[in-house]
Amino acid sequence: MKIKHKILIVDDEALTRERLGDLFIKRGLDVVFACNGKEALDICTADQTIDIVSMDCNMPVIDGYKATKKIKKIRPNLIIIAVTGNKDIEKRYKKTGFDDYFKKPVTWDGLWALIKDKLSNLWFINASVFFTEAFFIMIDFSEFFRKLNEAILIIPNIWTFD
Ligand SMILES: [Mg+2]
Repeated sequence: MKIKHKILIVDDEALTRERLGDLFIKRGLDVVFACNGKEALDICTADQTIDIVSMDCNMPVIDGYKATKKIKKIRPNLIIIAVTGNKDIEKRYKKTGFDDYFKKPVTWDGLWALIKDKLSNLWFINASVFFTEAFFIMIDFSEFFRKLNEAILIIPNIWTFD
């Protein structure tokens, strides 16, 4: 089960990337950066260990809306948060496929609260997958021991002297 989560920060402004990066590194996340939607799409395709994406909307090459639509087609369960100054994001984010949105200018505490909330849900999902798997492994084990026990029960018959 994963303890350290990985966030992809997508923004065409270097300063925003830097500031967000610092924030998330300080909070114990692994951080990856992309400068536009195309890079974000490439990274999400190649790196399956990314858990969550902070996605700017207005960017060159491919914007955040198109990138999110494309990424969601490949990885529907990857959490993507729109982080943008666009006023219509409230109406657009669901249709685009974003899981949530956060309006710029970014207040660090507010954004972190949102990201942390999404990650704790993710942790819960991971934990339930982990325990379900562990449960089935236990069932396999008990079956193994049952068979082993059967086999052992046969052995004493060899040693009886009647
Ligand atoms: Mg931008």
